Amino acid sequence: TEACLSAIDAAGALNAFVHKTPEIAMERAKAADARLKSGDAPAMCGIPVGIKDLFCTKGVESQAASGILEHFKPEYESTVSQNLADAGAVMLGKLNMDEFAMGSSNETSVYGNAVNPWRRGNEDTALTPGGSSGGSASAVAADLCLAATGTDTGGSIRQPAAFTGITGIKPTYGRCSRWGIIAFASSLDQAGPMTKDVRDAAIMLEAMCSHDPKDSTSADIAVPDFEAMLTGDIKGKVIGIPREYRMDGMPDEIEKLWADGTAMLKDAGARIIDISLPHTKYALPAYYVIAPAEASSNLARYDGVRYGHRAKLESGEGIVDMYEKTRAEGFGAEVKRRIMVGTYVLSAGFYDAYYNRARKVRTLIKRDFDEAFEQGVDAILTPTTPSAAFGLGEMADADPVQMYLNDVFTVTVNLAGLPGISVPAGLDSKGLPLGLQLIGRPWEEGDLLNTAYALE
Ligand code: GLN
Repeated sequence: TEACLSAIDAAGALNAFVHKTPEIAMERAKAADARLKSGDAPAMCGIPVGIKDLFCTKGVESQAASGILEHFKPEYESTVSQNLADAGAVMLGKLNMDEFAMGSSNETSVYGNAVNPWRRGNEDTALTPGGSSGGSASAVAADLCLAATGTDTGGSIRQPAAFTGITGIKPTYGRCSRWGIIAFASSLDQAGPMTKDVRDAAIMLEAMCSHDPKDSTSADIAVPDFEAMLTGDIKGKVIGIPREYRMDGMPDEIEKLWADGTAMLKDAGARIIDISLPHTKYALPAYYVIAPAEASSNLARYDGVRYGHRAKLESGEGIVDMYEKTRAEGFGAEVKRRIMVGTYVLSAGFYDAYYNRARKVRTLIKRDFDEAFEQGVDAILTPTTPSAAFGLGEMADADPVQMYLNDVFTVTVNLAGLPGISVPAGLDSKGLPLGLQLIGRPWEEGDLLNTAYALE
C-alpha cells in the first residue's frame, strides 16, 4: 500500500487518481496485516485497489467526474466497493473517468483526462487511456494499484483495457449489484474488474459480485470459484468468429491480431466456426438511442437541490432558474448532448420511431447471440476495438459519431446482457497494445475466463 501511494504521488501527470485516500488506505492495510497474521485472510486481503469515481464511497468524494456532483460525499458505500472491502481490499482512492461514464477517451472528465502510460514509438504525443474507465486502466497499466474497478455500459471496461494492455471483464448483466453506482443507463451498466491478468480478474470478480436485494436486477445466482476454473484446457470448445465484425476498412493489423488469436485458440484444441450475427450493424445506432434515453431519465435527479453543485441566483430569480442554471453550469457538453438526444427520443411524438424501434432491434441482437449459442458456440472471438489508442485531442474537432465508432465491437455485448472480456493480444507496429474480446454465454464467466486464460 505504501509503495502504491508513493507511485500515485510520483505519477501525478497521468491524472489517474482524482481523489486520494491515504488515511483510509493505511488503516485498511493495517487491518489486513492483522487478518493475515490471524490466519483469517480473505481473497483480496491487503491488495491495494483503485475505485472508479462512479462508485459511491462513504465519506469520500464520488462525483462521476462531473461538476454537478461537486464535493458530493455519499453517506453510503456501493455494494461492490463494500464487497471488495469485506474481501480485504485496500482502497487507495478514486479514479478518473469520462463524466457520468459517457465517452471513450476520458476527455469528458471535469478533472481533465487521464493519460495512457504507453507511447506510440518514440513520439511524445500523449495518448488516451480510453474511456470511460480511463483512470482505472491508466492506474493498473502504470502499476499505481494492483487492480481497479471499472464499469461498462457500452465498452467502458473493455476498450480502456485494450488501449492500455490490461485485462478487463464485463460480467453478465445482474452479476454485480448496481446499488451505489451512479447510474448512466440502468439496463446496460455493469461493474467489473480491471486487472493485470486473467487470474487477477477471476479473483477480483468473485469478490465483487453478490446477490443484492437492494438492486432488483441483481441475480440470485451462485457465485462460483472462478479462479479454480482456470485450467487452460479448452479442448473441444467451440469458438465462433462472427463474419459481420469484419468491417470495411478494418486495419490490417487488427485483421492479423484476430487471425492470430483464432490460431492460438485452435492450437489449444478449440474448434473454430464461422458464425453470423446479422443485426450487428444496427447495434451502434440502437445503443446511442437507448443509452441516452436512460441517461436523460437518470440524470433528471441532478437539480441542485439534493446533491452537489447549486448555481448562485440573482435577485428575482426563482426555482426554475435555479434548476436551469445549475444544470447548465454543472454538466459538460457531452452529457448535455446525451440528455438532449435522450429527451428527444423519449418524447411523445418520436418515442415509437426511435426508442421503441431501438428496443426491438435490441431484442433481435440478443436473438442473434442466442442462436449462436444454440448452435453450440461456447465463446465468440472479436477484436476489442477497431484501432489502438489514439492521441489526446485528436478527435476534438471530429463529429461525435466518430468517437462513438470506437464502441462498434463492444456495445452488442451490453445490449444482449452477456459477459465479455478483453485480453491483451500483442502490440501494433508502433508498439501500442491491442486487445481481443471474447464474448460468453450468460452466467458462464468461469468458462469465459478460462478461454481467455488460454489466449493469454
Ligand atoms: N463509450 C460508450 C459511451 O460513451 C460507452 C461508455 C460506457 O461503457 N460507460 O456511451
